Amino acid sequence: GHCSHLLKILVIGDQNVGKTTFVHRYVSGQFNRDYRSTVGVDFSMKALQWSDTETVRLHLWDIAGQERFISMARIYYKGASGCVVMFDVTNSSSFLSCRHWKQDLDSKATLPSGGAIPCILLANKCDLADRSVSAESISRFCKANGFVTWMETSVKDNKNITEAMRFVNNPGPPSVV
Ligand code: GDP
Ligand code: MG
Repeated sequence: GHCSHLLKILVIGDQNVGKTTFVHRYVSGQFNRDYRSTVGVDFSMKALQWSDTETVRLHLWDIAGQERFISMARIYYKGASGCVVMFDVTNSSSFLSCRHWKQDLDSKATLPSGGAIPCILLANKCDLADRSVSAESISRFCKANGFVTWMETSVKDNKNITEAMRFVNNPGPPSVV
């Protein structure tokens, strides 16, 4: 028979790095905005064909409000199977914040197995010329902080959006919901 899986994917990072436009870009076409929270979380959904008989429904959770300081972070993180941590390559402080975001996530949520929620680090706005974070320091940071990998993205130029999400959705067969 047909089988449908549900995956919860978090999108975290400082304000203005491009999280919301990233999610909109990714789901556009099959955009299905179910819910706009008044408590600061945007919720979007995208359905993917996983195999002939399996569908994956991605629930993308994008913090829209007070970012890292939201009081319900633990609830927000709960049950996630993957995470995007995003920064803006022209904003070094948003890069430095990624350490806090990753630590906050790891201290508040894990996979059911107890392992860390797989995180990909996205260096967004790579279309812009005035970069302030080098590829070398991103690469070093990525390894030192347990990210699965990192990628340069440009939501504006539609660069690496699907590729990045493919990485996040690919930690193995999801558990049946
Ligand atoms: P959020 O606060 O992290 O959700 O950031 P938003 O998605 O609201 O984006 C903040 C601003 O950055 C908006 O003006 C976007 O148009 C812009 N932006 C997002 N992604 C890119 C990108 O890849 N390149 C450029 N140049 N601008 C971007
Ligand atoms: Mg936003």
